[in-house]
Amino acid sequence: MSPGSKICLIRSFICQRVRQYILPLLFPRHCPFCDKLLPYPEILCRTCRTRLPLVGQPTCFRCGKPLRDERQELCYDCRIFPKSFDQGLALFLYNSMTRTSIVAFKYHNQRYLSDFYVESICRMHLRQLYAWHLQAIIPIPIHKNKRKKRGYNQAELIANQLARRLNLPCYTNLVLRNQDTLPQKQFSPQARLNNLKKAFGLNPSYLDDQGHLSTKGLRRVLLIDDIYTTGATMESCTRLLKAAGVEKVYIYSLCIGVSRDEIL
Ligand SMILES: [Zn+2]
Ligand SMILES: [Zn+2]
Repeated sequence: MSPGSKICLIRSFICQRVRQYILPLLFPRHCPFCDKLLPYPEILCRTCRTRLPLVGQPTCFRCGKPLRDERQELCYDCRIFPKSFDQGLALFLYNSMTRTSIVAFKYHNQRYLSDFYVESICRMHLRQLYAWHLQAIIPIPIHKNKRKKRGYNQAELIANQLARRLNLPCYTNLVLRNQDTLPQKQFSPQARLNNLKKAFGLNPSYLDDQGHLSTKGLRRVLLIDDIYTTGATMESCTRLLKAAGVEKVYIYSLCIGVSRDEIL
């Protein structure tokens, strides 16, 4: 064996041991669902892995909600309230298990969970994301007051990290949240959309005199949000982007609810 390959072997042995023993001590990782301490490089525990509510096929072409009947193209919600975005994907069903993890990620400063989400997104949907030939990623913004209080925007953490993985630019201040809206839970889908009408706007520094995007490379974009229920937020932002000249808007939601007719 040449001295060069001996050095390579020793180096890879050291790296392996550092990953196995040192990294877990310095940066302990916990299961995002049950908080159990994990061995490196696991991102969730075995028990939770088997219970993970991944959104399986068939799904609604438009929003990514799970469907019972594969002959259906669109879910009930997308049929009743047609959407402007072109296609959507979602990672998890929104249930008690994923709610715990989203609450920790969103409200309890567990920012490291973005590693788990982005890793899961890539494992599940990397091929579809490449097939969309995206040019940019845009997170759904939160109001500046909320951001100041929380210290970060959870959708932005995902968008930034995913953009790095896909080697794409991430525009975090293109879509702005002008108003801090009331919680949407009590509203009907149409009322939610009305409630959001003035909530979002585009950053004028990206626009020309006609209100069109002056930045090149924003014809096919991906919007990222943490939870999708009726789709009013994604719809509001899509309308703004399309009015400014974006041709294709795709959406990705970390967690998605079930269509109303699927509950019955
Ligand atoms: Zn677990
Ligand atoms: Zn749908």
